[in-house]
Order: sequence, then structure tokens, then C-alpha cells
Amino acid sequence: MLIGPQNLVSRLTEVRSRIKRAAEAHRRDPAAITLIAVSKTKPAALIRQAAALGVTDFGENYVQEAAEKMDALRDLQLTWHFIGAIQSNKTRVIAESYSWVHGIDRLKTAQRLSEQRPFHSPPLNVCIQVELVPEQTKAGVCPETLPELAAQIHLLPRLRLRGLMCLPPAMHDARVQSGVFERLAGLLAQLNSQGLKLDTLSMGMSEDFELAIGAGATMVRVGSALFGAR
Ligand SMILES: *Cc1c(COP(=O)(O)O)cnc(C)c1O
Repeated sequence: MLIGPQNLVSRLTEVRSRIKRAAEAHRRDPAAITLIAVSKTKPAALIRQAAALGVTDFGENYVQEAAEKMDALRDLQLTWHFIGAIQSNKTRVIAESYSWVHGIDRLKTAQRLSEQRPFHSPPLNVCIQVELVPEQTKAGVCPETLPELAAQIHLLPRLRLRGLMCLPPAMHDARVQSGVFERLAGLLAQLNSQGLKLDTLSMGMSEDFELAIGAGATMVRVGSALFGAR
């Protein structure tokens, strides 16, 4: 489904006010929450419209599809976030063209990204994906192995470990869903108490970003609420 400019204006206004309300309900500054507009499967023209409305951060899942859009939008100053599954033969392109990578769950991938990050670019910002609800197909490191992986990634020269990311399945009980987000926040606090300086909790999507904000999200990844169903 494609949406027109008028639709995008009202959807964006709605998402921004939902973010603001959720932040204020938890005595948080709405400006401390970055909206990542997830533009996978959507055309460059729609991203351009969102950029004209002040959206600066975009999330993409598919390397090839995103490369074409980035090329078409080269004249804009956008911050690109890779939020998809990372195939090892795609790490070079990812290291060369993104500012952020959210789904790191293996040291090998992190090492490749660090080696392949161009010397003229700033360090690549990364988040470790944590699997909090066991699922068969989902990626993510389990909480028990998180501290060791975080310590190793922290040492990689061309990466900057910023925080944690999660992608739990949608749950119908808001309290259960909030509990998952709170666990991710707890893991971040634990890593910081052990000496890391992490400032990012990437959690919450169209259906549940208010709950994530309530639990401390600093980045929400919102696709369908902005751009329509995929
Ligand atoms: C697609 C996707 C989103 C956005 O999902 P919506 O439900 O459309 O908001 C967020 N995060 C990740 C990792 C995704 O793959």
C-alpha cells in the first residue's frame, strides 16, 4: 500500500504526538527519543517526503534495496540505520554506507564490520541485539552471554558500542510486553555498572513504542504507522 503526501503528514504528526505523550507520561524529554522511520520496501520518493517533514533517521533491512534508495537520495543529509539480519557477505557494504547497525549478535560480524569500516568515516555505531523471548527463527544473543560479547565488541577500534536492541514478538498483554522492554533496560544498566558507557536502547515498533518509551527507549523503530502496511 502506498500513501500520499497528505497521509504522510497526518501519520507523522500522529506518531510524533504519540511519542511526546508517552515521554511526558513518564517524565521523559521527548527530544531524547529518536524516531527511526523504517522505510523498508518503500520507495525513495516517500523517504524524500518524510525528510522534507523533518525526519532525519531511516531504518532499512535489505542491503541491495537500500543501496538504490541511498543513491537516489544522496543530495539529502540522512542518517541510515541498518536494522535487518546481517549476512556475512554484506558486511562491507553495510560498513561503508550506514551510520548505525542495530542487530549485532555475533563477534565475527562485529569484527568484520570494524575491519571494513572505511578509515575516513567515523566509527560505526552499533547495538547488540538481545533475544529476550525465546523464538525459533529470531536472532539475538541470550542475556547470559551478553556481557562477554559486549566487552569484546567494546574493544573493536572502528566500532562504537552504543547500546542494546530487541525485537520481541508482539504480545497482547501490555504488562508482559513492558516487562520485556524493562529487562532490556536492566541489562543496559548492568553493563554500565560494569564500566561500559552505553546510551542507547533501540526498542519499540509501530504497535508498542509507547510501552518501550515507558521503559526507557531512546530510539524507536517505526514503519507501518508512518508509511502504511507493507
Ligand atoms: C520492520 C521492522 C520494524 C518496523 O516495524 P513496524 O511494525 O512496521 O513499525 C522495526 N524494527 C525492525 C528490526 C524491523 O525489521
